[in-house]
Amino acid sequence: MSPALRLVDWVSVFVMWLGLTRPCRADGLYRCRRSDQKVKESLLVPKIVMTAEPAGGVKFDSDQGFLSVIRRRVDEYFRSTGRRQRDCPQMYLKSAIFLMWLAASYVLLVFVAHTWWQALPLALALGLAMGAIGLNVQHDAAHHAISRYEWVNRLMALTLDLVGGSSYLWHWKHNVSHHTYVNITGRDVDIEVSFLARFTPHQRWLKIHRWQHFYLWGLYGLMISRWQLFGDFHDLITGRMGGHRFPRPKGWALATFLGGKLVFLALAFGIPMLVHPVWAVLVLYIVATTVLGVVMAVVFQLAHAVEPAAFPVPRPATGRIDNSWAVHQVQTTVDFARKRRLVSWLLGGLNFQIEHHLFPRICHVNYPDMSKLVEATCKEFGVKYAEHESVWAGVASHYRWLRRMGKPDAVGFCRCRPS
Ligand SMILES: [Zn+2]
Repeated sequence: MSPALRLVDWVSVFVMWLGLTRPCRADGLYRCRRSDQKVKESLLVPKIVMTAEPAGGVKFDSDQGFLSVIRRRVDEYFRSTGRRQRDCPQMYLKSAIFLMWLAASYVLLVFVAHTWWQALPLALALGLAMGAIGLNVQHDAAHHAISRYEWVNRLMALTLDLVGGSSYLWHWKHNVSHHTYVNITGRDVDIEVSFLARFTPHQRWLKIHRWQHFYLWGLYGLMISRWQLFGDFHDLITGRMGGHRFPRPKGWALATFLGGKLVFLALAFGIPMLVHPVWAVLVLYIVATTVLGVVMAVVFQLAHAVEPAAFPVPRPATGRIDNSWAVHQVQTTVDFARKRRLVSWLLGGLNFQIEHHLFPRICHVNYPDMSKLVEATCKEFGVKYAEHESVWAGVASHYRWLRRMGKPDAVGFCRCRPS
């Protein structure tokens, strides 16, 4: 592309960012379709304008009773036990513990540590605290799963902005793109990480993918710093994430985005550089974000980029997936380490991703008990309920999956019947 054309491109992006023009509809502006309206209702996400859907969208088969039965049983479970779906005391307690862990490790690292052997474990602790906040607090809050009071969820969701992400962009990336179109190539932005990663048999194969089961673990470590310092700004300016358009933040949402980034940059670099050398701040930032990146990536990858997970493709002629939305969620998702209570506590119940994908608005502290109901109902309806017994079994499966996808003739467990 010539420099002049590139300049025109950037001027267009800037003008669109100012809100003076809009991308044209034919260029893939998102439209709301009836099929997505159904998905929106099933996700029970309030105040969401479900517009992140490119023209020629994906539709799911109608539900054959699976979703209604499983919902009825879960409702009955909460009625009979008297437990709460949201506003669970143990959730508030663990949120307070993780926020104190974050504050303590930050204060000790920045204002108390004076030697490398003090700073290094504190940087690791800070990275893990950010991970715990993300997996437990921010993720539930973004799904409106912490409280029945919307202001509580919104406030807790801002913890993502505090640790350098954007709660606004997360909503579009995670709640809309990932949860609606999980493991559908070209629709789920979670499997469109980089040209260096091939997670599905339907993505283009490159020679470098032969070694992805070795190098991707390192790239996971770089994911967070890229996200905090570049990715969110890129998405904001271009109005695209993973090639898909989304509504740019305006007004209060834009102010939150920019304010959150300013607070994060001040906490991560500004204040520490007042009391420590620049190189030390940068090294410890890399340590903290690397451990955070590996933890976050592995937890989410163990749910979807593993051997038992399906990667369905829509029928080319109709855009239809040969399963209902609920069955699709179960077949594309894998639980792990369900019997390990500490794992569930630390990972925000994200080792119960099948339950989470079916009931994202129920607080994760309820997932271990709900999982028995969900598993039994899946069995009854002939829906495959997959799990790995331990974290390591999941990690090994992810490794083998990456190795398999690194081969040019890779095939996976995908129900991709020809149209
Ligand atoms: Zn989620």
